[in-house]
Amino acid sequence: MSAVVSLTNVEKSFGALQVLKGVSFEVGSGEVVAVIGASGSGKSTALRCINALETIEGGEIVVCGHKIHDTKLDRRALRRDVGIVFQSYNLFPHLTVAQNIMLAPICVKNIRKAEARTLAESVLSRVGLSEKADSYPEQLSGGQQQRVAIARSLAMQPKLMLFDEVTSALDPQLTGEVLRVMEDLARGGMSMILVTHEMAFARKVASKVIFMHKGKVWEAGPGAMLDNPQTEELNTFLSNGL
Ligand code: ADP
Ligand code: MG
Repeated sequence: MSAVVSLTNVEKSFGALQVLKGVSFEVGSGEVVAVIGASGSGKSTALRCINALETIEGGEIVVCGHKIHDTKLDRRALRRDVGIVFQSYNLFPHLTVAQNIMLAPICVKNIRKAEARTLAESVLSRVGLSEKADSYPEQLSGGQQQRVAIARSLAMQPKLMLFDEVTSALDPQLTGEVLRVMEDLARGGMSMILVTHEMAFARKVASKVIFMHKGKVWEAGPGAMLDNPQTEELNTFLSNGL
């Protein structure tokens, strides 16, 4: 099976600060990869490089057949294949939930309004929010808004989803409902990379866990590696209760 994402010796610096120091890993089709590590270890930067939001100085990244390091990269085509969801939901407050979701399919994919509405209803049902289509973001809880943000990404029918600490701003109950949506997506065969502090979720859902430390993949393995860390750094990270 060919990889949906492959990183090979990726290097990325901000000025004099080298943030990624030769990062390599792969995500197979339908695989869920959880990226963990202390704050500042380079997790978000790695995700941003995968979606070509940052340029890299060394190594290679191939995402759904797109060569990110290639100067001829077709960013529009890449954006159609990859959805990204951040901690902040960034919904437009003056648009309804459905209108927020319909925006990109209409603008980027040129589909008709009626078709976009049907699509919005279908992705809203996947995240359990069918009844909120005509609500405004401010009428929803944080967890519901985050589920709308996930639905908005799904409406573009991506081949890969990237999640960067999407539950970090939510209280435990709302976190649970967002994690359930992500678990459903994983079960449905979506290829995903998620940066998370939810160790129990990573252990349960991820096919592979990547522990980043100081800009490197320090340890990688199945979820069970969290029960039996091989390095002192992972052990310390896990016992700090992050
Ligand atoms: P993590 O997501 O693991 O917390 P990040 O990838 O956000 O880590 O950041 C890794 C390091 O890169 C940090 O030291 C951070 O301050 C630095 N960094 C991230 N983005 C930028 C930027 N745009 N300019 C300068 N430094 C940055
Ligand atoms: Mg981060």
